[in-house]
Amino acid sequence: MRGAFLPGDSTVELREVPDPRPGARQVLVRMRASTLCGSDLRAIYREHLGSGPEAYQGVIAGHEPAGEVVEIGPDCHRIKVGARVAIYHISGCGQCEDCRRGYLVGCSSPLRAAYGWQRDGGHADLLLAQEDTCIALPDSLSFLDGACVACGFGTAYEALCRAAVSGRDRVLVTGLGPVGLAAGLLAGELGSPHRIGVEPSPDRAALALALGAVDEVVPAGEDAADAVRELTGGRGCEVTLDTSGSAAGRLTALQATRSWGRSVLVGEGGPLTLDVSPLLIHPQLTVYGSWVTSTWRMAGLVADLARWDLHPQVTVTDRFPLAETGLAYAASDAGTGGKVAVVMD
Ligand SMILES: [Zn+2]
Ligand SMILES: [Zn+2]
Repeated sequence: MRGAFLPGDSTVELREVPDPRPGARQVLVRMRASTLCGSDLRAIYREHLGSGPEAYQGVIAGHEPAGEVVEIGPDCHRIKVGARVAIYHISGCGQCEDCRRGYLVGCSSPLRAAYGWQRDGGHADLLLAQEDTCIALPDSLSFLDGACVACGFGTAYEALCRAAVSGRDRVLVTGLGPVGLAAGLLAGELGSPHRIGVEPSPDRAALALALGAVDEVVPAGEDAADAVRELTGGRGCEVTLDTSGSAAGRLTALQATRSWGRSVLVGEGGPLTLDVSPLLIHPQLTVYGSWVTSTWRMAGLVADLARWDLHPQVTVTDRFPLAETGLAYAASDAGTGGKVAVVMD
């Protein structure tokens, strides 16, 4: 089979490798869609950054896979051949506290391995997956929907659930890349009556408005928080969520959070410097750090998406066949569009 590797110099290498065979509690998935993520660009594609959970071990890339199960190994009890699945992007030991909570992302065992980082991922014809990381897709969701759920939509949904977003909450999203788009769309389904985005790229802002992910967009910059307050009767938003991972985006989110409001930090990397009393203590803010999601929340999300008839693939602006994974990464690295996908026939 073919698999795409990321040498770390902004190139992609497509190599021929042996077909994997499923062992105990593993399934073999014929890949149908594998979307790209900002984390892949930041920590693998441009250069190999990071250690621990962010160390790239030279495996087949792609941590947002979806496909059809074509073979099951011994001791699989839930997933059957023919199942349509999205794959939670990390396998864990199954025994530590975080694994038992379903947050395999936080697994503390050396057995922890992220697809596309420490074990072969989805940019391939076939993927070897642990049964417990397979999330069965409702019939009404496509494989591309499933791939978008596997990291991006799941991450956005987790953040909104952590802040318990409801119809009482105006929601601000700083950064309208794929996770920001997902956050806006999902916040709308959860009942938010007013969603505002902050985004420096005019293309991304236009896409967010066209998709109905936000009601309005404020340009990024030093006055962004003031502009948000102006749109909210001088108060700010009850819930804010930073997906940009930038110092400016995080600061805007905190500054534009209403007194007693909740702010969720989702975008990764780098430091945060702020004046604690005026920004956090005096406004009585609750700040959450939210990393990815859990297997149970992801299963809940696909059920909710089917109920809402919301299709994450609406955020995909560029699709490429596996043979053109290099072009897919170049398109994603340009940072102007929405989600970029590798789609197999
Ligand atoms: Zn991701
Ligand atoms: Zn574990």
